[in-house]
Parts: sequence; C-alpha cells; structure tokens
Amino acid sequence: MAVDATQPYDDQNIFAKILRGEIPNKTVYQDEFALAFHDINPQAPTHVLVIPKGAYVSWDDFSAKANDAEIAGFVRAVGLVARQMGLVEPGYRLLANTGINSHQEVPHLHVHLFAGQPLGPMLVR
Ligand code: 5GP
Repeated sequence: MAVDATQPYDDQNIFAKILRGEIPNKTVYQDEFALAFHDINPQAPTHVLVIPKGAYVSWDDFSAKANDAEIAGFVRAVGLVARQMGLVEPGYRLLANTGINSHQEVPHLHVHLFAGQPLGPMLVR
C-alpha cells in the first residue's frame, strides 16, 4: 500500500527494523550516514536500496530536515556504492519514490539503484 509521505516517521517500518538489525539484509555498503542492501524483490539484475541512517520518511522529509553532513554523507554514499559496484561505465538509474502517487511503500527514505542491463527509456507508467 502506498504511504502518505507527509505523515510522521513510523519507527516500526521495515527499514527501521533493518537498521536496528531486527531483520536481516544483504548489505552492500554502510558508513556513518547510509546503509545499502539488495532489494528483496529485484526489478533489475542489480537492484540495491540505499537508505540514510537517520529517521526520514521520504526525500521531502530528508531534504527539508536533515543537516548538511547527513545530506552530503548520504549523497556521497549513493555515488560510492555505484562506483564500487562498477556501475558508472555501464550506467545505472536512481529512483526515490515519494508519497502516494509514486507508490512509495516503505516510509523510510530509500533510493533505488538499478543496473546490470539496458534499462530502456525512463517511463512513468
Ligand atoms: P518503494 O515502493 O517504497 O519505493 O520500494 C520499496 C522497496 O523495498 C521494494 O522494492 C521492495 O521490494 C523492498 N523491500 C520491502 N521489504 C523489504 C525487505 O524486508 N528487505 C529488502 N531487502 N527489501 C524490501
């Protein structure tokens, strides 16, 4: 079910549980600001989720409320993950669903990183 990105942060969401180590994940990378792990239901040969360690519902919440160090750390982590996975030369796609019309399902900011094959033109439907 799509979530309303204007709602307060719910610390029982699945990615909060992953961050607390209550649910296992296949970690690709982590540092002070971010955790990257394989999506449980991959939509491309490579499908990694990168999430901030702070409690932010969405891109909107994060871009409005995170401090500069968190934002810089998260953005650098997304780039580093793609670089370390060798995805810069073949190319990759980033996606951050935000709110109901985007069909965001997990109310903790996550950037999808898709790669591993030609991904075609960007489609909205
Ligand atoms: P959204 O639709 O919110 O942008 O994407 C949520 C993503 O989280 C989906 O691609 C879904 O497969 C993934 N996901 C949901 N639950 C889990 C989980 O428990 N573990 C992992 N690794 N991914 C999950």
